[in-house]
Amino acid sequence: MPKYIFVTGGVVSSLGKGLASASIGKLIEAKGLKVAVQKLDPYINVDPGTMNPYQHGEVYVTDDGAETDLDLGHYERFTESVFGKPNNVTTGQLYYSVIAKERRGDYLGATVQVVPHITDEIKERIREVSKGKRVDVVIVEVGGTVGDIESLPFLEAVRQLRLEVGRDNAVNIHLTLVPFIRAAGELKTKPTQHSVGRLREIGIQPDILLCRTEKKLSKNLKDKIALFCNMENDAVIEARDVQSIYEVPLTLQEQGLDRVISRFLHLDAKSGSLADWKKNVVDIALHPKYMVRIAVVGKYIELPDAYKSIYEALRHGGIANNTGLIFKKIDAERLEKGKAEKHLKDCDGILVPGGFGTRGVEGKIKAIQYARGNKIPYFGICLGMQCAVIEFARNVLGMKGANSTEFNKKSPYPVISLLEEQEKVTDLGGTMRLGAYPCNLKKGSLALKAYKNEKISERHRHRYEFTNYYLDVFEKAGMKITGQCPQGNLVEVVELDDHPWFVACQYHPEFRSKPDAAHPLFREFIRHALDYRELRLGSKLSVNGDFETLQNASAVKVS
Ligand code: GLN
Repeated sequence: MPKYIFVTGGVVSSLGKGLASASIGKLIEAKGLKVAVQKLDPYINVDPGTMNPYQHGEVYVTDDGAETDLDLGHYERFTESVFGKPNNVTTGQLYYSVIAKERRGDYLGATVQVVPHITDEIKERIREVSKGKRVDVVIVEVGGTVGDIESLPFLEAVRQLRLEVGRDNAVNIHLTLVPFIRAAGELKTKPTQHSVGRLREIGIQPDILLCRTEKKLSKNLKDKIALFCNMENDAVIEARDVQSIYEVPLTLQEQGLDRVISRFLHLDAKSGSLADWKKNVVDIALHPKYMVRIAVVGKYIELPDAYKSIYEALRHGGIANNTGLIFKKIDAERLEKGKAEKHLKDCDGILVPGGFGTRGVEGKIKAIQYARGNKIPYFGICLGMQCAVIEFARNVLGMKGANSTEFNKKSPYPVISLLEEQEKVTDLGGTMRLGAYPCNLKKGSLALKAYKNEKISERHRHRYEFTNYYLDVFEKAGMKITGQCPQGNLVEVVELDDHPWFVACQYHPEFRSKPDAAHPLFREFIRHALDYRELRLGSKLSVNGDFETLQNASAVKVS
C-alpha cells in the first residue's frame, strides 16, 4: 500500500500549491522512491478542455489524451513520472460517474448523497492512481482554498482516507500565506492561524505548514505559528519567493521538509541528493552565460499561465544552451496593424504557439512572414504550424485567400482543413485528436537532426490538419514535409529549405520538455536563436553577466 501526502491550500489562491506538490514529488523521488501526483479540481467542468484560457490557463495534455490542469505539467517537469487520466479528477467527473451509477441502479434504492457517495467516489479515484503500479508515495493536491464550498467534499474524503490508511501512512501539508504588512513593518501570522482553524473545524489537523512569504520567517515567528497551530516546531517551513521555480525543491530541502515528511510517514530519513538538479538546472537558470530574446506571438500573452508549458520549455532550451531568455510577448492582434518589423526587429527567434479561433490569426501570419523573409529562427507549434502553411501558400505559392477552414470555410485554397475523423463530431468536450501519436521523421531534416531518432511520439490537441492534396506543390516550392504520422499520413512537421531554422509541428513538443532534459526542438531553436543574435549584435553574451537585471526589466514586456 502506498503512503499518502495530502496538500491543501489556505488564505488565498495562487500560492503555488502545484509547484509545492511537484517539488515534494521531486524530494521524494530523490530518495529513490516512486511517486504519483494527483490533482483534485473542485469545479464542475468535466475537464478544463472546454474552458477559456482566461479562466484556467493552459490545458495540459497527457500521453493518454487527457485534457488536464496545468499543474500536471509541473508534476511531469519536476519528476520522472508520466501521468494520465486518473491523475486529474474534477467534481464534474465525480458527479457524472455517480449519476450514471444511480441510473444503473447500483445504489440499490439508497438515497444518493454527498457523504458517502461522492466522498466514496473521491476515495476510489485517489486509490486508482496507484492501482496496478509500483507507487511508494501518492501526493494528492486538493484544488481551491480551505473554506470554499466546492472543496468541502474533497477535504472530507481526505479526512476519511487518512483514518482508513492509518496515521502512519498519511500526512497533511497545508500551504498558507504569511503576509508582510508594510505599514507595520511586520509579518503577520493571523491568516495562517485562521486557515488552520478552518481545517480543524472539518476534522483535519495539518502536520506540516508551508508558509509562503516574501521575507524570512524568524525562529520566533515559526515557533509562534507552531504553538498556535498545534504542531511541531520543525514542521513550520518557510516557502519564500524565489527567482526560478526550479529552486523550490532546493529551498524546501534545505529546511528539512523531506526529513519531516519522512518522520510522519516512517520513511527512511536520509535526504536524496539534488546536486545534479542544482548544477544542471538551477545554477544555469540563475547565472546563464548567454542570452537571447524570444518573441512569443499569441492571443493570451498578458496571462503567463496561458502558455505555461511553452515558456517553461523555452527556458529548458535556454538551460541546455547555458542561456537566459528574455521573452517579448507580442499580442498577435496588435501585429495586424502596422509593420511587423517594429515589434520583431530586436528578437532573435520567433515562436507562434497553439490556439483556436480567428482572433489574432492574421497577426501571427504576419510575424511568420517576417521570420521567413528575414531568416530569423522560427518555431511554430500547432496553430503556429498551420499559420506557417497558410503564409507560405499565400506569399510564396501565390494562393490568394489561402486559409484554414477553421477561419474561412469558403477559402479557395483550404490548405488546412478539418480532420476526416472530426467531421461527425458534435460535442466539444474531449473530442479533439488528443494525446500521443507516432511520427516518422525524414532523413536530412532539421527535426531528425534534433531528435536523432526517426521514430518519435508526441502529444496532440487539434481538429484541423494540413490538406494532403497540396503536399506536392508545397514541397516543390521549398516547404518540406519532414514528419508524418504513419496512421493516415497526417502531416506533423514542416520545414523550409532556404532558411537557417524554420521548423513547425502539428503536435505539442512543450509537454515533453524537462528542465534537465530540454526537448530537442526547443534546444535547437534556442541554439539557432543564439547564432542569429551573434549575427545581429556581434555577441550573444549575457550583458555584463548581469542577466537578472535585464530579465527583470523586460521579461514581462508586453508589446
Ligand atoms: N485550432 C487548430 C486546430 O484545432 C489548432 C489547435 C492548437 O493549436 N492546439 O487544429
